[in-house]
Amino acid sequence: MKPKVYFIDSRVERFDYKFSVIGRLEKTLEKIDLSNYFSKDELVPVKMHLGNPGGHGVLRPNFVKVVVEQIKKVGAKPFVTDSARLNPYQYLEVASDFGYNQLTLGVPVIIADGIFGLDSVKAKAGELLGELQIPSAIYDAKTMMVLTHVKGHIDSSYAGAIKNIAMGCVSPRPRGLDWKDGGRGKMHFQLDEIMTWNSDLCNFCAICANNCPQDAIRVEENLFEVDDAKCWRCGRCVRVCPEGALSVPISYDRFQVSLAEAAKAVLSTFKPKKVLYINFILDVQPECDCMLMSDTPVIQDQGILISDDIVAVEHASLEIIRGAKPLPQSRAEGLELKKGTDVLTAIHGKDAKKQIEAAEELGLGKREYELVRIKV
Ligand code: SF4
Ligand code: SF4
Repeated sequence: MKPKVYFIDSRVERFDYKFSVIGRLEKTLEKIDLSNYFSKDELVPVKMHLGNPGGHGVLRPNFVKVVVEQIKKVGAKPFVTDSARLNPYQYLEVASDFGYNQLTLGVPVIIADGIFGLDSVKAKAGELLGELQIPSAIYDAKTMMVLTHVKGHIDSSYAGAIKNIAMGCVSPRPRGLDWKDGGRGKMHFQLDEIMTWNSDLCNFCAICANNCPQDAIRVEENLFEVDDAKCWRCGRCVRVCPEGALSVPISYDRFQVSLAEAAKAVLSTFKPKKVLYINFILDVQPECDCMLMSDTPVIQDQGILISDDIVAVEHASLEIIRGAKPLPQSRAEGLELKKGTDVLTAIHGKDAKKQIEAAEELGLGKREYELVRIKV
């Protein structure tokens, strides 16, 4: 049997709460019956990205509130979470500024691997990654709700639920390991690599240093230095350099396969069909939410997809994006889409399907799905 993917179109037919996107999200979660997934008194992590300073095109808190309210209705105890980014304490402050806090959501918002980011459990991944560290608040949970703001990404073109879990349910620097050996670094870079710097192209503008979350780069007149011990291999400096002076000899196929591998390691800690995925194709950014800015959306809002099959929900999301036209006045303006290509692949030039195909090959789900359109 094909897995079901519920689809709430962002077009609204009437000025009526029932018809609104929020109203139909509420109704769909009732229809799915969350008691099939979550039990009374069970602690349920609601995994999401909590934003970054300078951004604004993120998942709006009122969607999160609807989801946590529905989980509470079955008697379970949801908490909103992500693994450590930046300094975990500062990350919580950022989350609160975006409207993700106990006051607005009515549930705790916590860092999954603790306020120092060191609380995680070792788990086996695959050939590319070896071992990863999974934040304890994810590892010890029996079920999970995954809320994903779908957007673009420079290294994989598409960033959906697979990437949300792969990067966000892995600790960046577990206790006793160096930053570079943390799970995220292993996905972005290969082994002990670090970015290469081309002195002929560098104009010492320091944009890379200003965007480095680790303060690992020092730029002064005619001086460029990277502190190898501090660098966690996120690749942000490479992305933001306007002169192309920084590069990583990364294989983008490897990056996407490693995302699928990490997602499998995380999902292996749950029983089958105990994780539910909601993909929000709204305010679709050309770049990841971890950048220090938001841009004009590159396609119109499409809607919300829900499934308990990660491969099906990702494939359906990509197919819906494939049907969307590049928006004028955005980074996608004027892009000619080849047949079968989506706007995110056209922007970043990497085949967005790769991670979804890899996830299917690893047994995480099926690409074939049944789309259930939610009317009122
Ligand atoms: S952003 Fe690029 S050009 Fe600017 S200092 Fe860094 S490496 Fe040099
Ligand atoms: S990859 Fe670049 S931006 Fe990321 S931590 Fe290392 S030096 Fe900083």
